[in-house]
Amino acid sequence: MRTTASVLDVRLTDPLRPTAASPQLRPLIRLTIEAGDGAIGHGEAAPLEAYDGVSVERVMTAVTAYAEVLAGEDQAREDALAACARADPLPQALAAVDLALWDLAGRRTGKPVWELLGVSDPPPVAVNATIGAVEPAAAARDAHEALLAGFRCVKLKVGTPDDRQRLAAVREAVGRQILIRVDANGAWDQLTAPERMRALARFGVELFEEPVHGAAAAEAVTRAVPESALALDESVGVDTFAHRCCDALCLKIAASGGISGLLDHARRARAVGYEVYIASTLDGPLGIAAALHAAAVIAPDRHCGLATLGRFDRRVPEALVPAGGHMRVPVGPGLGAGLLEWYESDGSSV
Ligand SMILES: [Mg+2]
Repeated sequence: MRTTASVLDVRLTDPLRPTAASPQLRPLIRLTIEAGDGAIGHGEAAPLEAYDGVSVERVMTAVTAYAEVLAGEDQAREDALAACARADPLPQALAAVDLALWDLAGRRTGKPVWELLGVSDPPPVAVNATIGAVEPAAAARDAHEALLAGFRCVKLKVGTPDDRQRLAAVREAVGRQILIRVDANGAWDQLTAPERMRALARFGVELFEEPVHGAAAAEAVTRAVPESALALDESVGVDTFAHRCCDALCLKIAASGGISGLLDHARRARAVGYEVYIASTLDGPLGIAAALHAAAVIAPDRHCGLATLGRFDRRVPEALVPAGGHMRVPVGPGLGAGLLEWYESDGSSV
């Protein structure tokens, strides 16, 4: 198999944290695998260094190693992925290979990945809208727009000095018709989190995502605030699967190592009693499609954070436009039809 990869910088129109430090360009690594019979599969790596500490250079190092591992005779999908994992177990890079191999398998057989995964009639996936750490009036306006667009769950960034005002403004704007999820990205610690959570909970919070970092801290906070639901996101890792330390886990294509890894993580999470849902790390269309194929199998327990393509300065592929607060799993062979043009277009076409 022949592997090629390239880096693409895609402009963001709506950075979640509009500060000098936040990236205006989001690099994505596109990977293509061509089998001996000419069949082709496309994948994508979406590391987000500011968030997961994984640089583009680090992913490209892994991908270079994978190209050597995959060169020569075609290998079965599972064998090829396992060989790459032995060469370099970096999940963000493995995800690109996993996606490309699933895409290739689908294109070769003319079937969508969800069908290869044994699903016959994938239901739409309920997704949330995401509202940045903007001032309360702007957050309220964004939330009201999300309500009008059909979303029934909005996610707010918290961990800023005006959390309470922002949450109050949003609740006021949307009434009780919408679930409000808050994401602190680990801004609090074990001692401060319970008080912050109680102060926000009175506005009606569906779920506190990553209020603190780490399984041990999450477990302590869950015990301290049993009336609130708590999820881990950044901290999902080996120690979170050993036993249930909170209510839910937010799983991602990049951090899980692709569709195969995400399905495995979901199985392990559910086995110890977690709810699971899926989110993107500002993935491109291939990554979002992959997450939707995985969702067809997993049937997430809560709204998924996959409606993120609107943050890019590019036209969202028709197949991945959210409607009525839901996204549909793409049809067509492999990861789906009509996803690749996005990578070829430039911002001026929007
Ligand atoms: Mg999060």
